[in-house]
Amino acid sequence: MKKRDFLKTGSILALGALVAPLVSCGGEKDIKNDPPKTDDPQPNANTQVDPSFKLPELGYKFDALAPNIDAETVEIHYTKHHAGYVKKLNAALKGNAKFKTNDLAAIMAQVGKDDTAVRNNGGGHFNHSLYWDIMGAPKSDNQPTGDLAEALNKQFGSWDGFKEQFSKAAKTRFGSGWAWLSVNDKKELFISSTPNQDNPLMKNLVAENGQPILGIDVWEHAYYLNYQNMRGDYISGFFDLIQWDKVAASYKALVG
Ligand code: MN
Repeated sequence: MKKRDFLKTGSILALGALVAPLVSCGGEKDIKNDPPKTDDPQPNANTQVDPSFKLPELGYKFDALAPNIDAETVEIHYTKHHAGYVKKLNAALKGNAKFKTNDLAAIMAQVGKDDTAVRNNGGGHFNHSLYWDIMGAPKSDNQPTGDLAEALNKQFGSWDGFKEQFSKAAKTRFGSGWAWLSVNDKKELFISSTPNQDNPLMKNLVAENGQPILGIDVWEHAYYLNYQNMRGDYISGFFDLIQWDKVAASYKALVG
């Protein structure tokens, strides 16, 4: 299994900028922007950060993705499932001696197979934040343009080639999980899928490590109310929801 050491310092910084609007954390401001004054008590290296990740704004109404994803599914998924991951992530980080950061990307890069609660709930928070952010009202003939379109053509042969391979990764993920379009450390696009709430940032756990720029949730809670067992129909509908301008901006931030 080849594990790519993608998240070097520079990449972590770039990633932080990329996901900062998505994965707000109340403690971050105090640490990064407000260095202590000389007459303030100096921070102790052993002091734990105060984990206070918050559910990000959805940015649209619950019915904005309809009919491709119905309002009730979005509401339950966002207010119950995603909110639950955030709450449990904060609980898992409180007093946790291993994760001395509230940078979610850095946590993803550090997480290992024994860190069950941080792995599942940190992944849950990261994954859903990306998922909500790259979706919007359905559009027909919804395709990327520019550099990202060219890169997709180069890597996957054509737009249809990309769509086919991404759909296959999403359809064939057994049980619960995600399919991803990511950028690796060679600045190449790749498609992968992960079980449960894992994602390509988890370099200790995945075969292909990279920065995800597009992801689809294929847990049944993401589609079952409307599509029941028809995961393929949900995936087809997802393609009309992708906000390619946002995906292209993430791509550009990573490859220059
Ligand atoms: Mn989900």
